[in-house]
Amino acid sequence: MLEPHYNTVIIGAGPAGLIAGVEAYNPDYRIVILEKMHKTGIKLRISGKGRCNITNEESMQSFLNRFGKKGRFLKYAFSQFFNHDLLKYINDLGVPTKLERGGRYFCESDRATDIVVAFEKKLSELNIPIAMKTHVTRIKKNDEGKFVLQVKEGQHETQVLADQVCICSGGLGYPATGSTGEGYAMAKAFGHTIVDTAPSLVPVLTAGDISQRVMGLSLRNISLSIWDEGKKVTEMFGEMMFTRKGVTGPIILTLSETLVTMLESRKEVQIKIDLKPALDHKKLDQRLQRELTNNSKQNFKSLLKSLIPLKMIDLFMDLLQVDPAKKLHQVTGEERKRLRLLLKEFPMEVIGHDSYDHAIVTSGGVSLKEIDPTTMESKLMPNLYFAGEVIDVNGETGGYNLTSSWSTGYLAGRSMRIKNLGV
Ligand SMILES: Cc1cc2nc3c(=O)[nH]c(=O)nc-3n(C[C@H](O)[C@H](O)[C@H](O)COP(=O)(O)OP(=O)(O)OC[C@H]3O[C@@H](n4cnc5c(N)ncnc54)[C@H](O)[C@@H]3O)c2cc1C
Repeated sequence: MLEPHYNTVIIGAGPAGLIAGVEAYNPDYRIVILEKMHKTGIKLRISGKGRCNITNEESMQSFLNRFGKKGRFLKYAFSQFFNHDLLKYINDLGVPTKLERGGRYFCESDRATDIVVAFEKKLSELNIPIAMKTHVTRIKKNDEGKFVLQVKEGQHETQVLADQVCICSGGLGYPATGSTGEGYAMAKAFGHTIVDTAPSLVPVLTAGDISQRVMGLSLRNISLSIWDEGKKVTEMFGEMMFTRKGVTGPIILTLSETLVTMLESRKEVQIKIDLKPALDHKKLDQRLQRELTNNSKQNFKSLLKSLIPLKMIDLFMDLLQVDPAKKLHQVTGEERKRLRLLLKEFPMEVIGHDSYDHAIVTSGGVSLKEIDPTTMESKLMPNLYFAGEVIDVNGETGGYNLTSSWSTGYLAGRSMRIKNLGV
């Protein structure tokens, strides 16, 4: 049962809201977290394929770079609460963590839910309630300077007054988890600018049947480039995967923001996969020449087996239009060139992207210009705070986004506590 008045109301029990609740704690004040879903942290529970990639080992500077230009906004928050502070915090809550490939930290148990349960326990120890199935539909300020929250608990509608409000309602990705972008309208009602939102860290769709033919194939240690009218826009080294309709995997997700932006003004964007990034064209040609000479009696298909994953062979044969039984000593210079180009510049056309339903994060959100980065307080509306994905920062995959949510949530919680105490 909600009380009519709270000192601090936090909207959303995702990672940002949960930590903001703990950090806002003050024994003399009434604090509540309002969560519209039936469970807390639904997105957090499925993060990292249910294992939760909590954070990353990287240095502060390269960490900030993972957020592009907007990373600067997070500098102060990270100076207060960064990767190792976060790990200690989670360990102190009773959840051990472990370091894996790529500097990524996970729960030792491989259960993201452990973190959610630990936060719930901590909040309960502090007597900070989480009101479930409690949907904030509107906020305004009354003449006494109090926030008035319109709240729906099932069929029951009520109003709650608050001195401070922190909006931690997340973005628009995976809406089934509760993140449906409602915080944007709440911010807008107080005059905030919402930077255009778009799905980010999202799989992309490709033309033709190439992806379908090699569906499920994962390519490691490849380099992928994006092209615009014959000019290379960007390139990234790493891992990708083919799906039924397109491509995904770490480098595709990371580059998806660029692809999504480019697709706004074009019907398709060309990408090229370099399957042999360790060799330049000249060195690869020399290697192909050697293979053809040293194995002259073998057939073309066996050469491909030594160069590419098995799943790609039929595709290569079709694209190259070379007889698979052709002996290597019969392969012409032109055919060798076509093979080299396909290995170094395997082309695909990106024609679209998955919807918010499959977007790991949302780009855009509450404008950074209107939030004080040292407190997370609105510059337009005193005592209104923002934390987590609702603000206009989004990063690459690798534990960066959760760190940003926890770090901004921590800072917002602390700032609300300090302001509450009048320190
Ligand atoms: C499948 C998937 C896997 C991911 N894995 C990782 C990972 O391993 N590492 C990583 O760093 N990042 C990962 N992310 C991203 C990360 O989970 C998010 O960036 C992070 O959860 C954002 O936290 P948040 O607290 O801002 O918002 P959310 O987690 O979206 O939480 C917002 C909460 O607010 C509630 N809410 C919304 N509106 C209202 C309202 N009007 N009234 C009441 N409650 C409301 C929602 O129900 C929700 O519980 C993943 C995302 C997805 C979708």
